[in-house]
Amino acid sequence: MSTPGVRELVDRARSGDARAVARVVTLVENGAPSLREAMALLAPASGHARVVGLTGPPGVGKSTTVTALVARYRADGKRVGVLAVDPSSPFSGGALLGDRVRMQEHATDPGVFIRSMASRGHLGGLSAATPQALRVLDAAGFDVVLIETVGVGQSEVEIARAADTIVVMLAPGMGDGIQAAKAGILEIGDLYVVNKGDRDGAEATMRDLRHMLSMGGQRALRAGAGGGSEGGFWSPPVLRTVASNADGIDELVAALDQHHDWLAESGELDARRVRRAAGEIEALAIAALRGRLGSPGDDGRLSDVARRVADGRLDPYGAADELVAGLTTGEPAAHQPDL
Ligand code: GDP
Repeated sequence: MSTPGVRELVDRARSGDARAVARVVTLVENGAPSLREAMALLAPASGHARVVGLTGPPGVGKSTTVTALVARYRADGKRVGVLAVDPSSPFSGGALLGDRVRMQEHATDPGVFIRSMASRGHLGGLSAATPQALRVLDAAGFDVVLIETVGVGQSEVEIARAADTIVVMLAPGMGDGIQAAKAGILEIGDLYVVNKGDRDGAEATMRDLRHMLSMGGQRALRAGAGGGSEGGFWSPPVLRTVASNADGIDELVAALDQHHDWLAESGELDARRVRRAAGEIEALAIAALRGRLGSPGDDGRLSDVARRVADGRLDPYGAADELVAGLTTGEPAAHQPDL
């Protein structure tokens, strides 16, 4: 069944109409029933955008860097989408970037689309909504999509994984080393940027980072410490920027290009995109299954077997088997959510 207007909306989004793009992203955030149809219509047009994720502790200069990158890509005539994602406050969409004055310089440029993501109703939360929003921007013809996350926790790392290339940002001071190691970001970065290179301690932070990468990073050990690709492996480079002056941004863009070339040549780009799709599908499937199981206390399948287990009439393993078997029979579930 077709929802009136969805095809037209998607056609407009695909032609790059910013308002239509914004409306489709809203469908994603809300987990709207018409999202299914919209995604099906968008799918054939996706797979072209280069996706860069930026993550790092608050205050290191991610937004400033994103702004400088947008300016640089625009100067090259590229259309750029920015998704800002704050998993720590999923209901406060708009707070992250919307009120940041310096992004305003791009606000009226039709070649730039900036959106703070919120997850108001999406079953899989922001980690499922972000890759879908990404598909929308991709299908709308943006050449580059930048995903900015607010911090370095597990959810941020998960969201950053939606990108082809992950940039981990740090700044001098702030006890970055410990923080970085804790959050596991030494494993996920394809590129490391020490921003605020104009501040004392930038050299020391770069040195510490290189040291930690060479200790823990298999990739770096295989390919040497200089950064870049060698012998088929990628060694994450450590760059220095002063984002507030756009210093080092050209070098960052060059390193992003180099990483993209390596991804394409090594087959890793394809592998990452398949892994990403698998994660996305898994999140949706699990959310759908959870909905079909029902919740404790309702009159669904889960409550039924839980009652029998509590009464000693059934063991929990047998109950789980029964529940799983019931899911594949195609009987209508008590609570089947609309994806
Ligand atoms: P985010 O929280 O990681 O997005 O960080 P922001 O981009 O909001 O930057 C935090 C603060 O650091 C802002 O006041 C920026 O103006 C400032 N800032 C960003 N980049 C630099 C830099 O390279 N050098 C210095 N000194 N300040 C910077």
